[in-house]
Amino acid sequence: MKTIAVMSGKGGTGKTMVAAGFSVFSDEKLLLADCDVDAANLSLLLETSNTECRPFMGLECAAIDQTKCVGCGICQVYCRFSAISQGDDGIFCINPLKCEGCGVCSLVCREGAVVISERQSGEVCRSDTPHGPLFHAELFPGSGTSGRLVFEVKKDALNDEPNVPAFLIDGPPGIGCPVISAISGVDAVVLVTEPGISALHDLRRLVTICRQFGVQMFLVLNKADLDEERAEYVRRYCADEKIEIIGTIPFDPAVIEAARRGESVAGMDTPAAESLKKSWKALSAAMGISQ
Ligand code: SF4
Ligand code: SF4
Repeated sequence: MKTIAVMSGKGGTGKTMVAAGFSVFSDEKLLLADCDVDAANLSLLLETSNTECRPFMGLECAAIDQTKCVGCGICQVYCRFSAISQGDDGIFCINPLKCEGCGVCSLVCREGAVVISERQSGEVCRSDTPHGPLFHAELFPGSGTSGRLVFEVKKDALNDEPNVPAFLIDGPPGIGCPVISAISGVDAVVLVTEPGISALHDLRRLVTICRQFGVQMFLVLNKADLDEERAEYVRRYCADEKIEIIGTIPFDPAVIEAARRGESVAGMDTPAAESLKKSWKALSAAMGISQ
């Protein structure tokens, strides 16, 4: 089974549209994962059913047992995250949205008044789709453990159904911890970009990370006809970096129309769908995925 992550250096370049299109055009069912856990929306473009979720326990969180606390304030002095404050009534409290669960307050409290406990930071879910099982997640507001949640989504997916030709990941945007977690262990990355200044800047940063992981890279150029000059720049950049361009998608209003209807544009008779089909064929041929 080949593992392929569809990634983009910045959000809004059409990454999820490409991932959904690939899953639709695959002749065989795939194993699917939406690892854009801060804004998961692959499930919105695929027909999901039978969704089942489990809790995701993220960072630990501290709380003060007021029956033991003597109000010395030492914990507040040592908390690097300014999570502990003293109210007008003199009582020390911990703000769970600021607490990083480091445990320092429990170490310095001589009264043993600090209790550290696990807290739920989100959910990991599995849904059926016509194109294979989809694993996705929701991170609760204020939870900052998206890299670990990406790991959990991938782990659940790989435990579920390994007998498919490919594991297709809709990756998170950017270059942070969730991206590292998503790229780790993949065979190839499909970079999705568009001919804009910030997209190109972020593409270069993502390529640098992919090089460090030694993964094979392909590129899909979305909305290529919106700026021919910069599109040509991307082509030259790919030639220099030896990144194969597997698809060029024109600007197509049908993409927005499909998203509005909660569908993949791949199901429509439109230029973007045709380009996605060609891109998937080129990728599956290059990766030796049976079609
Ligand atoms: S260090 Fe312990 S006793 Fe002192 S304020 Fe904090 S929780 Fe209360
Ligand atoms: S666990 Fe760490 S971050 Fe949370 S309140 Fe204690 S010292 Fe602050």
